[in-house]
Amino acid sequence: MTDTTERQVPQPIRDGQGATDTGPRSLAVDLENPDVLVPPEQDAGTMPNLKFPFSQAHMRLDAGGWAREVTQREMPIATTLAGVNMRLKPGGIRELHWHLQSEWAYVLEGSCRISAVDQEGRNFLEDVSAGDLWFFPQGIPHHIQALDKGVEFLLVFNDGNFSENNTFQVTDWFNHTPPSVLAKNFGVSEADFAAIPQSELYMFNGAVPPPLESDRIVSPTGNVPSSFKHSLDSQTPLRTSGGNVRIVDSTNFAASTTTSAALVEIDPGAIRELHWHPNNDEWQYYISGKGRMGVFANSGHNRTYDFGPGDVGYVPFAMGHYIENTGDAPLRMLEMFKAPRFEDVSLCQWMALTPGELVQHHLKVNDRVMDSLRREKQPIFRP
Ligand code: MN
Ligand code: MN
Repeated sequence: MTDTTERQVPQPIRDGQGATDTGPRSLAVDLENPDVLVPPEQDAGTMPNLKFPFSQAHMRLDAGGWAREVTQREMPIATTLAGVNMRLKPGGIRELHWHLQSEWAYVLEGSCRISAVDQEGRNFLEDVSAGDLWFFPQGIPHHIQALDKGVEFLLVFNDGNFSENNTFQVTDWFNHTPPSVLAKNFGVSEADFAAIPQSELYMFNGAVPPPLESDRIVSPTGNVPSSFKHSLDSQTPLRTSGGNVRIVDSTNFAASTTTSAALVEIDPGAIRELHWHPNNDEWQYYISGKGRMGVFANSGHNRTYDFGPGDVGYVPFAMGHYIENTGDAPLRMLEMFKAPRFEDVSLCQWMALTPGELVQHHLKVNDRVMDSLRREKQPIFRP
């Protein structure tokens, strides 16, 4: 082996500990997870798995596109939220449906038309494109249809046990209702329902819809009181020394009462500071760039995980963590919570606002650290 080859084939060796891996091994997986193959020496103890790539999730292929999900079944620790990544071809329709959970969505690419009708007959119809969000409350019926360039998006549901394969589909219900009942319900004859599809449509082909305004129907009870659409990317980000963040929760997107999020961009070499969340678990989706997350679980337990585009990460309630950009491009990721408000506690801010001599009794840090703490009284990721 030449020097160059040895450098390209990482080995589970750190400071004389460990030994070469003679195989069988998956070099591609090892290269993507350098902190799993060779953990930092501070990592210790047994931890739950906190990473699952969408690339390892089952792909459901259908006429209108594809969908895959990362739920509690893929990542058992992830009990609060579940995610679906879906692509619809131009004109492709995600069938009219509803479900037990609320649905929060972020458009990754392209654009689509979405609709909903609430419990008071108030309706909603909008077009959304890359960088926009939508939110449908639990039990409210809705649809998604790609516009002329197709669409790809991330859906996040407020229950780790959600499955995109267990939603209430309109065709499924029509199919399982006797035609005599349908005839009575709609005041027409049984024969009028002869062409109902024999199985659910789920994701199917459709014609690209007409301009938004020509598709609108005026409801006697008006529009939904809080729009189900929000433009996250057009929100002015909070800039910090190491990146920027856009926080969206029920305070600036009133409809989203069950789900809060932060779209974080970390500069190359920078970190999302050491922190934790005092309200709930964190479900993460990595959009672009490369990074690693260290998670501290108390009692000497700590583990480091590597992330790239399309990966899902998870941080159980209250565990301390940081995310470091290990690549040479910005790291973009979503932090999501089953909570009406985004909340975090900064380690720096806690130390800065605690009497200095008390901090020194614990950490034995020098004046340089204490001076730095005093400059950090402002929270780093908060308006
Ligand atoms: Mn849905
Ligand atoms: Mn966090």
